[in-house]
Amino acid sequence: MVTIGTELCTGCGGCVQLCPVCALSLNGDDKATVNDKCDDCGICIKACPVSCIK
Ligand code: SF4
Ligand code: SF4
Repeated sequence: MVTIGTELCTGCGGCVQLCPVCALSLNGDDKATVNDKCDDCGICIKACPVSCIK
């Protein structure tokens, strides 16, 4: 499962749209959060404009 660096996350939502298994969402603070559906495909890691997904 990926880790989100929430201090850097801008809440742009780009990763949420891209995740093929709907493992990402924005929380109430407009920060991305990941759930256990993540299969480590890596798409969001490459796509995040501020590189805050590891
Ligand atoms: S793409 Fe990056 S900055 Fe945008 S919501 Fe996802 S983790 Fe946050
Ligand atoms: S690594 Fe793949 S499955 Fe996991 S949250 Fe990112 S896009 Fe979704």
